[in-house]
Amino acid sequence: MPFWSWKGSKTKPTHTSKPVDRTVPVSKETECREKYKYAKNRYSRLSADERCSYQEAVKNWAGKYTEETALGILILQRLHRLQLLRPRSSKKLHRHPRGEDGEILTKVRDSMPPPIYVEPIQEDSCLEAEMTQLRKDYWKHQLRLQELYRGRPHPTGPTMALFLAGHEYRNEHGQPYDFVDSQRECANAGGCCARSCGCCQKGLYANEDKKDQTSPVYGHCTLECVCCIRFRECYVPDGRLSPPKTKPLLR
Ligand SMILES: [Zn+2]
Ligand SMILES: [Zn+2]
Ligand SMILES: [Zn+2]
Repeated sequence: MPFWSWKGSKTKPTHTSKPVDRTVPVSKETECREKYKYAKNRYSRLSADERCSYQEAVKNWAGKYTEETALGILILQRLHRLQLLRPRSSKKLHRHPRGEDGEILTKVRDSMPPPIYVEPIQEDSCLEAEMTQLRKDYWKHQLRLQELYRGRPHPTGPTMALFLAGHEYRNEHGQPYDFVDSQRECANAGGCCARSCGCCQKGLYANEDKKDQTSPVYGHCTLECVCCIRFRECYVPDGRLSPPKTKPLLR
């Protein structure tokens, strides 16, 4: 199951554990936490030699997967940075009813004189084009990630099981355990987890106007984190993305 489609899916996660006879119903969160703990314990019982051989088998795959996931977060954080620069009214203007030829339809009451003309929508076309391109990039990233997931090594040893459990199983806030466990890393690197802003906990969306229709993606700070850019008062574009057309506000 693609990790990013958790909320919308009607199916259960693709684990194959045997059904457990329980008298008390267990919440999905508890089940996830138990499965993640189980994968962690199983991994910790491996000998050093076993770890090495397992690691060799999954190293390349997990490396590629981690790289691709990080790229997705980078794209989403740049998108978030750009979405904050949009004029506040632009959302509403988009939803304004239009005629077939694209002309804005304005309801005119009998008591009101008809308007002479309708103001054209003022949008930063450069900003919108950059955001559209990033959404295309994010879409392609999701397809690559799914392709990688499909090609994961089999059979699943403890190293692989822990890796997958960390991405697939989520806590009561819907955050993957891999994200939860890497908060310290984010804080040590001077990211938002080191401060009280709570940015990483909010999750990211490819389209913030439609956030009610999808689940958030959780990731830690990259060079595109708008809060970190403001905190450090400088911006260093990440070479993995195309050069930014819209520079961030540093304060
Ligand atoms: Zn922050
Ligand atoms: Zn940050
Ligand atoms: Zn963080």
